[in-house]
Formats: sequence, structure tokens, C-alpha cells
Amino acid sequence: MDEAVELPSGYGPYLPISTEDADSFNDAFSDELDSSFSSSIACCDNCYADFRAHWPDVTFRRDGTELMSMETHWAVDESRLSGAWSPAEYSSLRRLVQCPRCLTFDSANIYLFEHRFSDARDMEDDIDALITIGSVTPFLLLEHSFAQRVLAEVRAEGARAKVEALTQPLYRARLADDVAHLRQPPDDPATYGPAPASATSEGRFNHAGVPMLYLADAGAVAAAELGAVGQACLVGTLRIMAPLKIFDLIRADGESVDSDLFDALANSALLGAPRTGDGWIKRQYVFSRYVADCARSAGFHAIRYGSTKTQAGVNYVILDPPNDLMSLVRLEGYACTICPAPAHRY
Ligand SMILES: [Zn+2]
Repeated sequence: MDEAVELPSGYGPYLPISTEDADSFNDAFSDELDSSFSSSIACCDNCYADFRAHWPDVTFRRDGTELMSMETHWAVDESRLSGAWSPAEYSSLRRLVQCPRCLTFDSANIYLFEHRFSDARDMEDDIDALITIGSVTPFLLLEHSFAQRVLAEVRAEGARAKVEALTQPLYRARLADDVAHLRQPPDDPATYGPAPASATSEGRFNHAGVPMLYLADAGAVAAAELGAVGQACLVGTLRIMAPLKIFDLIRADGESVDSDLFDALANSALLGAPRTGDGWIKRQYVFSRYVADCARSAGFHAIRYGSTKTQAGVNYVILDPPNDLMSLVRLEGYACTICPAPAHRY
């Protein structure tokens, strides 16, 4: 009995269940999920918040397509497991579905997702370590083996990647009040350029005082990225005149990239965390700025990455925009619009 798993109270009839029985039931259930959904339990109600904190892009961009939630008992009863045990055994065992992530039993809901790499729990430890290093001793990031691997892989990708011409225009939004306050003409391309160095605070990819040009693949995405819900903004349509070598963290169609490391990186809290608060050092941006340093050193001109405001939005950042913006972009037009609310994050 010492080894028996304790059933949640209030259920019956049930039999004493050994840990071994519960394990073999969970193994069989896991096989059923794999054959029905090509996926496994990624988290449960008990650990969903922690899963989301580590993989914000999974719960935001891939929810509903690759991340599926379902009632645990429904999932068990829909599987073909009931025939393999006696009714009394089955009614006991069906309450003993165990979350492989946090090891709790009988969560009301389970969440299915399949990372493309096999060591997700190890990577969660790396994420925690890197966020701590990034906020305490950011210059020592390069001592961490995961950071070293990222630099090596980005450099290898830099040697492989080819320059590409962007056939679609990109968009940049400015708050209408800011443009009016600075007396900038809405039809001047410079209005949609990066802020001057003296007014550049640190961003997702740029260090303080180092302006980069942040662009989006649609006007609505650019407007949402301002994060000023309900305020009027101007959205410039910009044609990129030069081919760029782009470090791709998400493909232009919004699909994930081919490299498992970059896919994991893009989905993790190291790159995909939504901005919270306005501290001088934005803790969640330290590793993304490290990645931008890697990309610049590897010869990339830009990074393509997923929006944290709209689920299908794709953003671009030009890492080293020229002082003479006209040598890189042409303003094709502009529109006045209202900044939309960001998509809800679960
Ligand atoms: Zn769990």
C-alpha cells in the first residue's frame, strides 16, 4: 500500500492501484494520443502558466492548430483503453492520467503539443538560466553553452543564407500625435525611419542608442505593434530597394523555420516574450539583443520574427539602417488609422 497511488477523493467505485499499474495505463494513454493526434501531453491545468511562461509563442501563435486542449476524461474515454481493463479497474485508472511535465494526476484538462526537439525540459532549464544571467550579468551570457551554440549556429546560417529581394512592401507605424508634435511631414520617407540615436531606448533587438528599423508585413500589424490601443497613427508603406540577407526566425508565410534550434528559440521566452513594463533594462529583451548581435556578426542585414501582438503577423528588423534612409527604402504611400487592440493571449 505504501506504493499505491492515492486516488482523488469523491470517486468510486475504485480498486487499489499500484504505481506500476498507473504507469502502464499512462504509457498506453500516451501511445493512444500519439496515434490519434501525433502529439503528446505538453502540460496540464496545473502547469499551463509555467509552460506559457517558457514558450509564449507556442501558446500564442500555435494555439488551436498545434497546441490542442481537451478535457482529460473525454480524451481517455475517446481512446480505446476501456476495453483493456475491467470496468472497475478502468474507472479507477481513468482518474490517474499523469502530466509528464509536472507529474500531477487528474487535471481537468490536458494540452497536447509536440516540440520539434526532444530535450524541451532541458531547454526550459537553459531558458531560466539565461534569463537570470541576462538580468544579473548580461555580458557573461557567452559563457553559457546554449548561448555559445546559438552563436555558432547563427554564424553557420550566415554562411549558408543568400540575400533575397523583398517583393512585398513593408510597413512602419508612427503615432499621429508624435509626428504632429515633431512637425514631421506625413509624406516624408524620413518620418518612417528609425528614431535618432539620442532618442533610442533599448528594444527587442537594439541596444540603447543604436537605432534599428522595425517593420511589419501588414499595416495592421505595424499599427498593433505600437501598443497604443485606440490612438491615431500613420502607417507608411515602404518598398525595400536592396536585397537583404535575412536571419529567419519565422518564415514569411508565418510557418516555423526548418532549424529545430531556431524554431525552439523563436517559440521560447528568450525571444517571444511580450513586453511587460518599461524598466530601463527590459529583462525579456536581453537574450533577443544577444541574438541580434550574433546575427550582425554573422553578416545578416535583418531578422524576420513573429509578432507578439497579432497571431499571424510577421515582423522585420533592419539591423543597421543607413543614415541616408532613401538609399534603402522608398515611401509608396501612407494611411491614417487607429491602433488596434492586440490579440488575446491565453
Ligand atoms: Zn502539468
